[in-house]
Amino acid sequence: MAFENILGNEKNKEILNSIAQSENSVHGYLWIGKDGIGKSLFATEFAKMLLCEKKEQKPCNKCKSCIEFDAKSHPDFMIIEPEDEKTIKIEQIRYMQEKIAEKPVTSTKKVYVITNSELMTREASNCLLKTLEEPPSYAIIILLTSNESKLLATIKSRLMKMYFAPIEEKHILAYLKENNLDTNITKNMLKQCEGSIGKAIKVLEEKEKYELIEDIIKKISTEDITTIWRKADVLYGAKENITSLLEYMSIVMYQKLREKNEIKYANAINIIEKTKQRILTNANYDMSIDNLLLELWEEFN
Ligand SMILES: [Zn+2]
Repeated sequence: MAFENILGNEKNKEILNSIAQSENSVHGYLWIGKDGIGKSLFATEFAKMLLCEKKEQKPCNKCKSCIEFDAKSHPDFMIIEPEDEKTIKIEQIRYMQEKIAEKPVTSTKKVYVITNSELMTREASNCLLKTLEEPPSYAIIILLTSNESKLLATIKSRLMKMYFAPIEEKHILAYLKENNLDTNITKNMLKQCEGSIGKAIKVLEEKEKYELIEDIIKKISTEDITTIWRKADVLYGAKENITSLLEYMSIVMYQKLREKNEIKYANAINIIEKTKQRILTNANYDMSIDNLLLELWEEFN
C-alpha cells in the first residue's frame, strides 16, 4: 500500500494515490501545512509513485525507477531546500530549470520538490514563475509551505492546493512508542508538539526544560519572588529558544484556565505574550525575564 509508513492525512493519501495510479497529474502542486507534519515524506513517496514504471500498484519497489529512487540516485527527481535554512536563492531555481529542460532519463516524468517554498527570494519566485507558466509536458513541481501568505499570488494561481493537517496526538504517541522513544510526556507537552513529529522529537530533547517551567508555575503562588528569580535559570539561559519555552508557559496557563476558569490565568497568558513581543523587539533579555516573573508573581499573590 502506498503511503503506508506515513501518519495521518488519510484523505490526501487517497487523492494522491489515485492521481499517481491514473497517471493523470497536474504540473504544479502547493501543499500547505505546519512544519514537521510529514509534507516532505508525502512528497517523496508521491514522487516515487509518479516515477515508477509499472502501470498500477505503484510504487512497485522493483523496477529500475523504484530502485534508483530508493538508492537516492534517481536522475529525474530533485529536492530543492533553503540554503542555511534561510532562503531559496535564484541560483537554485535556475539550476532546477536547467535540469528540468533535459528530457527524463529513467522515467517518463520528472518530479521536483521545493521545501519551505515561502523562503524563495523575490527573484527566485519570479524565476520559478516562468517554469510554472510553461512547464515541460513531463514535469511535475511540488511546492511545500507552512505559510502560503508569503507566496506570490501569481505562483499560487498556477498550483493545485492541498492542505495537510497536524498529526493527531494518539498517532504521535504511537510513533514515539514504535520508535522506542520516551512516551512518558505530559498532556501539555503533547500540545506543545502541535501535531508535528519533528516538534515532538524536539520536545523530548528539551523535556527537562519543560518540566522546570511547570515547576516554576507551580511554585509561583507559594514562594517569594527572589526565590522564583533564583530558580528560573532555565529561562535566563534560554535566549536562543525562549519562544518555545514561553509558548509552553502559555499552554500550561491555558490548560489551567480551562480547568479552573479563573481570570488570573488569562492575565498570565497576556503577560507571557507581552514578554514574547518585547524579546522579539530586542528589549533587554534578562530584564524582560525579570519582569515576566515579577508580573506573574504579582498576578498569583
Ligand atoms: Zn516501480
